[in-house]
Amino acid sequence: MTTFNLRTLKLRSGEQFREERELRLEPLELGGQRYVPVPETVPAQLTITRASTGTVFELAFDVRLHGPCMRCLDDAVLDLPISAREYEATSPEGDEELRTPYLEDDKLDLSAWARDALALALPDKILCRPDCAGLCPVCGKNLNDEPHDHGEPEPDSRWAALADLKDRL
Ligand SMILES: [Zn+2]
Ligand SMILES: [Zn+2]
Repeated sequence: MTTFNLRTLKLRSGEQFREERELRLEPLELGGQRYVPVPETVPAQLTITRASTGTVFELAFDVRLHGPCMRCLDDAVLDLPISAREYEATSPEGDEELRTPYLEDDKLDLSAWARDALALALPDKILCRPDCAGLCPVCGKNLNDEPHDHGEPEPDSRWAALADLKDRL
C-alpha cells in the first residue's frame, strides 16, 4: 500500500507541494476477467494545494492495462491517462461531501485512491481494436482471423420430402 504522510507537511494557505511518487497498482477484476497493469509500478504526480477553506489533492499517472478483449478474448492493451482530484475541508463538521475518503489520521491512501480513479476511468468495453469483429456465434471461431458467415441454415432434404408427403396425405 502506498500512503503519503501529511503530518510533516506544513502548508500555509496558497502554498503548494508537488512530488513524484512511485505508485503500485493492483490488477483489476472485470466481468470475471483479470486486467493487469504493466508495469505494476508507475510514477505518479501528487500535488497538494492548501486553500483558505481546505486542502486540494491531485493525483496524475498513466497506466497501461493488459487483459482479454471483451469480444474475442484475444490480448487487448489499454492506455489510460488518469487524473483525479480530492478535497478535504479544514473543518468539514460532519459533512461527508467536504471530506476525502482516502485521508485518515493524516495519511493519504494513494493505493486506494489510484484503484478507484482507475476504475472510474475505464471504458464500457475493453477491446483489442475498436472494430473487433468478435467470435462467431455459430462455431465460436475468431472472426478477426477468419471472417465468415454461415448463411441460412440448409433445409434438410429428408424433412422436406416428409413435409411434401404430409401435404399430399
Ligand atoms: Zn477483440
Ligand atoms: Zn462460424
